[in-house]
Amino acid sequence: MKTMLKVYNTLSKKKEIFRPKKDARVSLFVCGPTVYDYPHIGHARTYIVFDMIAKYLKEKGYKVFYLQNITNIDDKIIKRAKEKKISPKQLAERFEKEYYKDMKSLGIDSISKYARATDYIPEIINQVKQLIKKGFAYQIKDGIYYDISKFKDYGKLSRRTFLQAEDAVSRIDESKEKRNKGDFCLWKLSKPGEPKWKSPWGWGRPGWHIEDTAITQKHFGFQYDIHGGARDLIFPHHEAEIAQMEAISGKKPMARYWLHTGFLTVEGKKMSKSLGNFITIREFLKDNSPQILRMLILKNHYRSPINYSKKDIKQAKKELRRIAELIGKLKDINSPRKKVAGAPKNLIQKTKRDFEKKMDNDFNTPEALAVIFEFVNKINNLISKNKLDKEDAKKILNLFEWFDKILGIGLTKAHHRIKLSENIKLKVLVETREQLRKEKKWQEADKIRKQIKKLGYTVEDTEKGPRLKKIT
Ligand SMILES: [Zn+2]
Repeated sequence: MKTMLKVYNTLSKKKEIFRPKKDARVSLFVCGPTVYDYPHIGHARTYIVFDMIAKYLKEKGYKVFYLQNITNIDDKIIKRAKEKKISPKQLAERFEKEYYKDMKSLGIDSISKYARATDYIPEIINQVKQLIKKGFAYQIKDGIYYDISKFKDYGKLSRRTFLQAEDAVSRIDESKEKRNKGDFCLWKLSKPGEPKWKSPWGWGRPGWHIEDTAITQKHFGFQYDIHGGARDLIFPHHEAEIAQMEAISGKKPMARYWLHTGFLTVEGKKMSKSLGNFITIREFLKDNSPQILRMLILKNHYRSPINYSKKDIKQAKKELRRIAELIGKLKDINSPRKKVAGAPKNLIQKTKRDFEKKMDNDFNTPEALAVIFEFVNKINNLISKNKLDKEDAKKILNLFEWFDKILGIGLTKAHHRIKLSENIKLKVLVETREQLRKEKKWQEADKIRKQIKKLGYTVEDTEKGPRLKKIT
């Protein structure tokens, strides 16, 4: 049953049957945030996707250890802290907290451990030592560098030649003394006023790529199952990780499966501060529920690009409402066991099987959601023919709960939110109107009556008090 899952591996450029190293356990590492600003909806995409992947793997019976690093020391952090006139440590601590807050509001709860780069300095120093000892690294004036010409497999993940690699990396780690233009920094010797740690080569701080391999070696060993991240990290970041870890261990592959999420654009354009189309998770959640973001993201395959638009938000809202309405109807079904069964049992089983088939095909959530919508149609049809009893409804609701466990959209919760908020609103309006009537403020009372009408109800004043009637 477990071997049915196929995943697309960036390393082989093929879909492969998923077989973890240890039978029932999955070690999963995903590149976490650099904590210098609020995360945006592009980040949300990657983290929602891997949350779904971890949840599905668990549902398939795997014990998943999901590890994520927190880059809390880095050039961007130092620069931003300087602008804000606070220490890099203060800045990083603040945005690390903000990151957790955003993940929580998005319902992302599958991470087993967050690992801060600065908590792994001894492990980082140890890896750099190993790389020097094995001849893969060398020291120049401003730090220790990795010599990419020494690692034969360099470029195997991103399919770049040595020269192409050189061109791209040179912009990142600029030092004229480097042996090859593409060599990247492992340990940066610190300039005055910068955060620093003691090392055999002097006071300094880790380069960007080394923290990930130090963290994964500590928790997973030399080899593990899945490495994930956004696709813009394939080069140079993930290529560098392979070069570091496989050079140290002499074992390959470092990660058996490399999974990468596609880009997210806003109204057809890349998100950037200068274009003013940079949407943080927080801003999105001011006007929308987290369910909408999840729906929007999972309606696309994780490897495809997503274009975020207002039209798509509207559509996602509509679809969520359709499900919420069905959930509401199911919860209202009160009829006892029918003698002639509505036969939803086969339908439920088939739907579950179809859903799994789609998910087993490289986590194809758009097709899995299509299975759910087809099911919604069929159930609505059965309800309209009065073919479902209370027990059927319960079984169907259970299936929706199972979808929720994997997709995390909160399909069954959406109903509560809509019903509750609307009911409370109505209740308050009716009471306010009554009070105004008692005070003989007829005009104001009439205004409230119009508001109630907007919510789809008329008020009838009976002897026993006001009574709501749904407008049909
Ligand atoms: Zn990383």
